This record gives sequence, structure tokens and C-alpha cells, in this order.
Amino acid sequence: ATPTALLVGTGRGAQLGTLIKGPQVLEDTRRVDTVVLDKTGTVTTGELRLRSIAVRGRLSKKAALTAAAAVEQGSEHPIARAIVDGAALARIDLPRIRDFQSSPGEGASARIKDTEVTVGKAALFESVDPTLVEHAARQAGTTVFVGWDGVAEAALTVEDTVRDTSRAAIDRLRALGLTPYLLTGDSASNARSVAEQVGIPASNVRYDVMPADKHRVVTELQQQHKVVAMVGDGVNDAAALAQADLGLAMGSGTDVAMDSADIVLMRPDLDAVGDAIGLSRETLRVIK
Ligand code: ADP
Ligand code: MG
Repeated sequence: ATPTALLVGTGRGAQLGTLIKGPQVLEDTRRVDTVVLDKTGTVTTGELRLRSIAVRGRLSKKAALTAAAAVEQGSEHPIARAIVDGAALARIDLPRIRDFQSSPGEGASARIKDTEVTVGKAALFESVDPTLVEHAARQAGTTVFVGWDGVAEAALTVEDTVRDTSRAAIDRLRALGLTPYLLTGDSASNARSVAEQVGIPASNVRYDVMPADKHRVVTELQQQHKVVAMVGDGVNDAAALAQADLGLAMGSGTDVAMDSADIVLMRPDLDAVGDAIGLSRETLRVIK
């Protein structure tokens, strides 16, 4: 390929709001036939809101939110931010915490006075009351549990919204001949509900994937001789972005994701993915 023409392509990319790291990226883009989309912060806005609190026994909702928000102050996860914002809106003063520990893809914990408080997936607890599990199953959003010394006593539900541009952007990727997959550490029900809203079939949804395993989903598709583009925003997505034949990071996301990607999307929507792929094909058609 002619380097000059490719550079023109990368220049147009900048105008379209995509930052393409070098001309060779356009070549890689041309062969892509599969696109793996991270859910939270990529297909959805990632701006989660606290929607409901359920408690068991004599615990008050305020006490549950106070403890959860205190722990989550230490975490940068979007769920943590929604919980901390929820407490701030309710004008709750947060107690001091010690020994904060984060379990990526699962939750976080810390000590408040002499008790270990944990916030996150059911798997982090020794026991979760069945009434809380049933409550979680009925919620539309993502529900995390709050527990003291291993026993979950409350459930907080946060909700995310699908970007209003996502469905049309994914339709366009399909029109460009790409097969879309949805990838998330979130639960099956939440993942399927988002997939349905954007028209991704349930068979192409990979849920409950631990952060350290996200890149394996990309590898598996590559072993099936697919040429894979990965789109993500989080620290969790960095290895998958690097593993993919083409990595695209949301400019609204984390620095680590942007560093691992070939293309950074400066507009907060998935249409930029179609722009980047359309642009590279157009550029290469001109010069070949
Ligand atoms: P995604 O792939 O959707 O970006 P993650 O892999 O970051 O999700 O997290 C997967 C799941 O782990 C979340 O849906 C949540 O249940 C739980 N989780 C992760 N971090 C936290 C946290 N800081 N607080 C509560 N729950 C968390
Ligand atoms: Mg994400």
C-alpha cells in the first residue's frame, strides 16, 4: 500500500473523531469480520444510577447504603460510583474504612469498625438470604449484595442505559459484514436484556466473564479463524484490546484501555466503529 494514501486516511479519521495510531492500522481493519463489544460503558453509557435497595431483618436501607458507599469510595468501578453518588444525594456522611480490598470482576470489601463489609456478587459471600436472591432476579438492572462478615443482608440495584445510538451503529456494523458479539462480566439476565435491545442474538452473548478471561473470548474466536475487532473502555478490557486483531477504545474510558488500543474513538458512540472500518475500506480501495 502507498504510505501517503494511508496517512490521508488516518487524517480523515481524525476529522471523523477517531484517533488512529498509525497507517498500518487501516490495513488490519480491512480484514476484520467479527466485532466483540464490551457491554458496560461501551454499548451502554456506563453512567449507572442507584435504583433500589432491599434489606432483610431489621437493617435499615440507610444503614445498608451507608456501609456500601463507605466501602465503594475506594473503588473506581461504575457500580461503585453509582452507590457513592446515591449516598451523597441522600446526604449521608460516610464512616471511615480500613483495609480496602478490591476483587476485580466481583466486588470490594473493607473493615468498618470491627466488621468486614463486602459489596458485590453473591459468590463473595458465605451466605445470601434466598429472599434477596429472588429480589435480585426480579430487577431490571445489576444487583449487588451488601454483607457483614460474609453474610449478605441487603441488595442494591443499579441501572445502566443503552446508548441511544448503539442499535443503529450495530446494524451498520452488520451491514459492513461484521458479526457482533457482546462481552461482559455481568450476569446472564442483564447481558441478554442489553443484547436484545441492540439486536445481538443470545448465542453471541458471553456473560459472567472474569476480567482476566476477557482476552480468552477473543482468542477463542481467533482460533475459529475469525479476524476480531474488540471495542472496550475499561481496565478490564485492556488485555482483550491488545489480543484482538484490531483494538478500539472509547475515548471516554480509562487510559489503560486507550493505551492498549489501535484506534481511540473520540465520540462517545459506537457509530465511530463503523466510521473507522468504512474509512479504512474506502482508503484501501482508492490506493489498490
Ligand atoms: P463489565 O464487564 O460489565 O464492565 P466487570 O467485569 O467490571 O463488568 O464486573 C462484573 C460484575 O462484578 C459486576 O456486574 C458486579 O456484579 C461485580 N462487581 C465488580 N466490581 C464491583 C464493585 N466495585 N462493587 C460491586 N460489584 C462489583
Ligand atoms: Mg466496560
